Amino acid sequence: METKELTGVAPKKAIVTPKTIIHQKFGTKACYTIEEVKESDENDCPGLSIPQKRPCVYRCSLQLPELLVVSGIFKKKKDAEQSAAELAIQKLGIRVDTDDPTPEEAWDSIVARINYLFSENFLSSLHPLSGHMGAILQRKGDLCGSLPVSVLAVYDAKLGSLCKYIDPEVESNPFLVMSYIIKATTKLSGFIATAEQHPWIRKQSPYPEDIVDSLLKQDGLQEPIQVAAVRIPSSEEKSVEAVTLHISSKEYYLNIIANELGLEDASNVLISRNLGKASSETRLFFAAPKSYILDPSSKLPNGKDGLHLDGPSNLRASYLSGHDIAGDAILASIGYTWKCRDLFYEDVAVQSYYRMLIGKTPGGIYKLSREALLASELPSRFTTRANWRGSFPRDILCNFCRQHRLSEPLFSIISHASKEPTESCGSNLKVADLGRDVIGCVNGAPTTSRPMQSDTEMFQCEVKLLSRCENLIIKCFPKDCFKKQNDAIQNASLKLLVWLNNNFNNTVVPFEPLYETADIFGIQIFSENFFREISHYHSIQNCQQLNQSLGINSSCTTPVKGVCLLKIEGPDSGVCPCNGSLSCISYSVSLVVEGENIKKVIEVTNNFEFEVGVGAVISYVEEVVMQMSVGQSAYFTTSIFTSDLIFASASDSVEMQSLLSSSCCLEYEINLTKVAEPLEERMEQALFNPSLSKQRVEFAVRHIIESHATTLIDFGCGSGSLLEALLKYQTSLEKIVGVDISPKGLTRAAKVLHSKLVTNSDSGVQLTSIKSLILYEGSITKFGSRLQGFDIGTCLEVIEHMDEDEACLFGDVALSFFCPRILIVSTPNYEYNVVLQRSNLAAQEQYEESGEKTLLQSCKFRNHDHKFEWTREQFQKWASGLAAQHNYNVEISGVGGSADIEPGFASQIAVFKREWSLEDGLLKDADMDHHYNKIWEWVCHRKNK
Ligand code: SAH
Ligand code: MG
Repeated sequence: METKELTGVAPKKAIVTPKTIIHQKFGTKACYTIEEVKESDENDCPGLSIPQKRPCVYRCSLQLPELLVVSGIFKKKKDAEQSAAELAIQKLGIRVDTDDPTPEEAWDSIVARINYLFSENFLSSLHPLSGHMGAILQRKGDLCGSLPVSVLAVYDAKLGSLCKYIDPEVESNPFLVMSYIIKATTKLSGFIATAEQHPWIRKQSPYPEDIVDSLLKQDGLQEPIQVAAVRIPSSEEKSVEAVTLHISSKEYYLNIIANELGLEDASNVLISRNLGKASSETRLFFAAPKSYILDPSSKLPNGKDGLHLDGPSNLRASYLSGHDIAGDAILASIGYTWKCRDLFYEDVAVQSYYRMLIGKTPGGIYKLSREALLASELPSRFTTRANWRGSFPRDILCNFCRQHRLSEPLFSIISHASKEPTESCGSNLKVADLGRDVIGCVNGAPTTSRPMQSDTEMFQCEVKLLSRCENLIIKCFPKDCFKKQNDAIQNASLKLLVWLNNNFNNTVVPFEPLYETADIFGIQIFSENFFREISHYHSIQNCQQLNQSLGINSSCTTPVKGVCLLKIEGPDSGVCPCNGSLSCISYSVSLVVEGENIKKVIEVTNNFEFEVGVGAVISYVEEVVMQMSVGQSAYFTTSIFTSDLIFASASDSVEMQSLLSSSCCLEYEINLTKVAEPLEERMEQALFNPSLSKQRVEFAVRHIIESHATTLIDFGCGSGSLLEALLKYQTSLEKIVGVDISPKGLTRAAKVLHSKLVTNSDSGVQLTSIKSLILYEGSITKFGSRLQGFDIGTCLEVIEHMDEDEACLFGDVALSFFCPRILIVSTPNYEYNVVLQRSNLAAQEQYEESGEKTLLQSCKFRNHDHKFEWTREQFQKWASGLAAQHNYNVEISGVGGSADIEPGFASQIAVFKREWSLEDGLLKDADMDHHYNKIWEWVCHRKNK
């Protein structure tokens, strides 16, 4: 087992890339040449008699003045370049040093920096602070030229980062920067600094008049402006409201904000870091507390901000900013920027406040990424990349950490030989046990010998959330294994997000019950840090659950909890969503006031696509859509909703406020426009763990081991999933053969098998005893002696792809001519489709209640290519008839679900056994062998095996 930290995964902690280092050293003297490598040995499949296409791969050579290096082969050009640069760095022995300044050096730099910021040179530069400088020089009276310390601390990032070398606490306490700035200024001659009620800094001697004059001419607003902003009152009884800032050409804009906050001067205004999106200029402006602590030595033990609050906390503003704020706060997007000397401003509406608010929860981040606040929901499961819509879990987690001022999450990948997840849902069969005996491979060498081995690399991922000061807050290590690293990362991120989201939505008893669920999510909580960093923010979640009981449900087809007046209109087209499929809806949500004729549309979304069955939409929508077919519309109302979401979705907050004060409900109108069929496989993967196909393979492997078979034939091998799996297990098999009618499938099979065999022999670990492997093209209903005399025959999920009479013909041919000792045939259980295609739980309950097959009539086949799907009875009849006719024994079982629980196994499997020996030998007819073209063959050349 091997663990590696993926430093590259955390985007903020970007390390300098090898190319950058080379560029710094050599500039344009470094010359990269990319070369496409034509023949890739890796993908080549010798002996395959079907034409193949190969993907492009690249190699990069890097020419430096005294050195030429050539990279290895990569799928991506840029990876080849980076690899070449890295080689060059190694060869040249370039050291990458990042020397941090000592605290003394940092003090000196801070002093120098302040001196520079007040210099004449700086005045004319383009910097957020130079804009302020210009503005304060226009201030009238005593305060002309006085710059609020809060402005310095917030708008010059360099000062902040220098302070960190003196006191790492600055990281979690941005206002400490102000104290250090004042302290540093006192060391500077020619400056006046005040740490009193109005902390500001000014240069003693005025700037030369001509410079000020020219500044005045070029700066400043010509026309007065009006900027929309939001007041967040500290009293929670008062609602968040819109305010307008009237900024005249003469006045320093911070003074206007100060007035709005009831303060006399800009130096009393504190400014938060920018909120919401990284690029935004939106900040909270609030009053500095009276008992202002500006002495760095008197740090508060637990406070996040080092401020003594005068009054009660402004919970909403504190929540948004991440540090304690007392008194009213103004949320506004205004200030000087890097882009332009003019004052930048943008309207901030009450709606923006609510969007920021919900953007602090994992579910909210997801909803915003989908622009569907009232219908979408953070999915509870990650199935495949292709089915995911909206921001990916990993990105949401990074965003969440940013919003909460945490470090970037840390991902570790654990790679090991295929290991079954221990829980297997939807399956009572103990097949997973087989996989659990998998031996660990240390440095590629097997440590013990067990009946089965497996060498597929699988990945697990562990995510850690850390505070700014790198204290561990939460660790999430789900058991699930994935073939792709990225899927493991997404899955682990999602697990953590879902758990966190449950916390945020749990308004009743914050956090207490969720400790219990942490285990299920593979989560470990480091309580002290967790409470300090995250639960702190929880306190103000002012989600109001308006829960009124509403009218009677008159025409509900199936009652859905919390939903009333469900109407589904339009003819049933028969095309229905099912688990794992992608559905496309257009919907609108309106706020309806009871008894009055008021209906206000608040959210309209067209062509909204989502995966069914994973909770990607709110439960009401999911359950309703499950009852619809394409082309139909549905209407329902619900009285359970969160007012925050309504304010975040609707643009007119005043109107919403008044509507919400009366008894109202939300009305959803949904049109189901499209359903993309799920791939059978996708569905099987979404519902079963391990996936149904994997369970089938393991079922077969168990029989192979028990039977001590040395030869195997896979009828309808497709792209070789079973054959490939067999290479990973230690069985007694020596010769295996695959037959299929599809050249496309066989080509894929040949490639996969070839690459597996090459990797096996490269690593020097021969896991299987298999000496020969052949692929034939042809129909399994045709007779040919090449397919005769095998110990075991498998035919997994194939017969349903043929017409029913063909399937019966195959049974006859197999048992009368091919005559394997054991034949394993699997096919879908049609009755199980009820579970696969309807909402799982609801369907299972309904099925049990009705006990009838009425529901079945509406079920589709699992795959477009299926010609039939049999019920248990049909399969039983076919299998027992066939066995009796050819003197075989047959046992029927299956995988996925259970024989004892309705509606039986998901995949039904018949195992035919021949108890008599083939004394007379087999009927040989070499003339018939043209039915099967050998299209690929592999023979083991090792003698000692
Ligand atoms: N057994 C594989 C593939 C199942 S898909 C697995 O479990 O993954 C069904 C396969 O049956 C397809 O590859 C299709 O080409 C093949 N098939 C359908 N009719 C066939 C026939 N008459 N002869 C041989 N193969 C057939
Ligand atoms: Mg099939």
